Amino acid sequence: MLAAVPSAALLGVEGHPVSVEVHVASGLPSFTIVGSPDSTCREARDRVRAAVASSGAAWPMRRITVNLAPSGLRKGGASLDLAIAIGVLIADDQLELRTIDDSAFIGELGLDGTLRKVPGALPLVDALDTANVVVPPPSIIEAQLVGRHHIRSATNLRELLDALRGDAPWPDLDPANPSPEVLAVPDLAEVRGQASARKALEVAAAGGHNLLMIGPPGSGKTMLAQRLPGLLPDLESSQALQATRIHSAAGVDLPPGGLVRRPPFRAPHHGASSVAVIGGGAAILQPGEISLAHCGVLFLDEMGEFGIDVLDSLRTPLEEGVVRVARANARVAFPARFLLVGAMNPCPCGEALKPGVCRCSDAALVRYSRRLSSPLLDRFDLRVEVQAADPAQLLRGEPGEPTAAVAERVHRVREITLTRGVETNAVLTAKELDEVAPLSAEAAELLERALRAGTLSARGLRRVRTVALTLQDLDALPPPILDRSIRFAMNLRVEPRFLSRRMAG
Ligand SMILES: [Zn+2]
Repeated sequence: MLAAVPSAALLGVEGHPVSVEVHVASGLPSFTIVGSPDSTCREARDRVRAAVASSGAAWPMRRITVNLAPSGLRKGGASLDLAIAIGVLIADDQLELRTIDDSAFIGELGLDGTLRKVPGALPLVDALDTANVVVPPPSIIEAQLVGRHHIRSATNLRELLDALRGDAPWPDLDPANPSPEVLAVPDLAEVRGQASARKALEVAAAGGHNLLMIGPPGSGKTMLAQRLPGLLPDLESSQALQATRIHSAAGVDLPPGGLVRRPPFRAPHHGASSVAVIGGGAAILQPGEISLAHCGVLFLDEMGEFGIDVLDSLRTPLEEGVVRVARANARVAFPARFLLVGAMNPCPCGEALKPGVCRCSDAALVRYSRRLSSPLLDRFDLRVEVQAADPAQLLRGEPGEPTAAVAERVHRVREITLTRGVETNAVLTAKELDEVAPLSAEAAELLERALRAGTLSARGLRRVRTVALTLQDLDALPPPILDRSIRFAMNLRVEPRFLSRRMAG
């Protein structure tokens, strides 16, 4: 007999409907899966057989063929296990077809029949148009976010079969997220002193400007970066859903309630692989850290230690807000629009190039500075030196202004920015700047002098203008852009000192 069970497979962050067709015929016992399964998907045989046996049903000792349609779509992972098990039992007449009427099934099966969480429950369920969808208990919240289906669940296959047959009621499972991530965002009040770095952080949040902090170890660069998401506004509903899809597809724990409402903060280690940071993978194409940071902050601590391939791969997403990753037979685009915060020591030894103290050779400095190609360096609108905090200020200084107060100013700037037809000042083009933020005569003169002197590059010009606009927005000072705003913006975009050593060496 033939059975067809609706399910779905994940490609990138999108789910695609899959019909799991199971044919059971007389003949020597065998089990074949066709229709572009990957190796994990092909191993469903062993998991499904053990799970069916554990559930009290019988494994048919006949010739079983499973076809995953459409065959052009590559099916990765174990999310089709449950649909295959249900299909086998229907095709073997152990379960009546009417019991799964208008229902789809998503889930991995443990050998003991447990329904296990699969990555991407949200996009998988979103791809289905059946009235009912059965998912593993840990995926209930994600599945419910779609809002179009009646979501059902059971802890194991035996419980599920009892409910489908009507022998027992559907289990009433607590939809609470089993591993709620505590989103304790640290407060800026805890940062004492560091006036210029705090200002740079506020400007970065208000205008969406990428920020590079250069300072010795222990100067608080990480502490500052961790407080940046707290300054950013809540995600809009479409952004929240998109960010949640990405987290879901990556199999990352979702916050309580399921929806990613606050800007994410991702801080991959410099030893992380290119696949982990950028995305991709051999078996399933999965989003990387830069996509998990979508609509939030990507923090690269010790930026000079990251692989050159990783740093170079950031350039396109920084420009376009998406990253394209490919595997032999699939190519997907992951959203990756993030605020980039980099932190670097002033030199490899961390002694800030201090004469007599810095142990770095010229060759080491040249190697270090080459890590940061000028096109990447150019994408930082803000480049500030962070000094080691003054011990007296740490002990006796006043607490800094709290996050809530700074976030209020950031919020006001974002509202002004929306009237310009963009989300952040950082993305304004030169032409748009001429329209919405014309320069005063003195400001134009100042910029011209800097361009002539070579202290400002043609590429840097637009960036300095956008930062100056954000500075005036923060002070509620409407355009034209004044020369003092330009001067301030240029002071927030210093040339890293190791670069001048590169020129010398
Ligand atoms: Zn050094």
